[in-house]
Amino acid sequence: MEPSLHPARWWHPAERGKLLCTLCPRYCLIGEGQAGFCYIRQNHGGQLVSAGYGRSTGFAVDPIEKKPLNHFLPGARVLSFGTAGCNLGCKFCQNWDISKARIDQHVSEAAAPEEIVALALSTGCQGIAYTYNDPVIWAEFAIDIARAARAAGLANVFVTAGYVTPEARAEVFQYMDATNVDLKGFTEEFYHRVTFGHLEPVLDTLVWLRRETAVWTEITTLLIPGLNDGDEEIARECEWILEHLGPDVPLHFTAFHPDFKMTERPRTPAATLVRVRAIARARGLRYCYVGNVHDAEGQTTWCPACGEALVVRDWHAIRRYRLDGARCLGCGAEIPGRFHPGRHEGSERRTGGGRFGVSLV
Ligand code: SF4
Repeated sequence: MEPSLHPARWWHPAERGKLLCTLCPRYCLIGEGQAGFCYIRQNHGGQLVSAGYGRSTGFAVDPIEKKPLNHFLPGARVLSFGTAGCNLGCKFCQNWDISKARIDQHVSEAAAPEEIVALALSTGCQGIAYTYNDPVIWAEFAIDIARAARAAGLANVFVTAGYVTPEARAEVFQYMDATNVDLKGFTEEFYHRVTFGHLEPVLDTLVWLRRETAVWTEITTLLIPGLNDGDEEIARECEWILEHLGPDVPLHFTAFHPDFKMTERPRTPAATLVRVRAIARARGLRYCYVGNVHDAEGQTTWCPACGEALVVRDWHAIRRYRLDGARCLGCGAEIPGRFHPGRHEGSERRTGGGRFGVSLV
């Protein structure tokens, strides 16, 4: 299958006929006929092209809690899709069948931006999630879809490892409303050995998102037994978040399952998630969640002022909802995030609407 080629942004000519890609901190030097680390950005005749433009490796309608986002339109449905390739090399990748595939090696379907927006609307979604493989590497495509989605009243959700350069990030995120950034560990050694990346650029992206954009940001750390789940490392991560991003950024700890090149490690025990969540809360982070397990306590949004259970979840399902817009129905405290307007109580199901216009019935 011949993939669609699209002119790439964020590059310039370098020495000996090579092209320097400036989209992510790898800064690949790409020779004629070659591709960068992510596979999909290629040098064709001295021009950088993106081979993933206009193709999807599959669509799904997901609850937004699956991204995971717990403080952005709870219960909303989002049309999720990705392409192929990735700019990190995580040995534990849970989507390696697409992240390690070339777009021309993977079964994919043509999907123009307007068609994707129409599909989101026709399936009752309130937003589109750019996910599965890292959308940074297909940012030209994501931007074109997100622009059309915003015009149609849909929210845009960017699920990423945050491995993007200062040169590119303002354009990459310009139409995004929310993001979940994977903070894969909190040592340079882990990033270097296990992801083939570096920690510092991810921290830089998080600070920039929080301080210089209006993009609602949550963080996820996948805990791998014995590699990134030590008390000290978790405490340092939480202290860094508290100091640089503040106490209100939701932090999700999720359970690992053996996959790709990391099949010898055991699954993350539920007790580990309980332990690290307690560390995060003790350090002062107000919204700490656990994922990929059943844990009502660790999946509920609690009011930090009065202790009311505001959004009770079981895995990705909402069981109880007690917010008036962004305010606690118990004491009126304002909860950070983007919530559905109006007063809602009890156990409710969500329906579609326009831009952020999700209604509860
Ligand atoms: S986006 Fe791809 S080609 Fe560009 S620097 Fe990153 S890995 Fe290399």
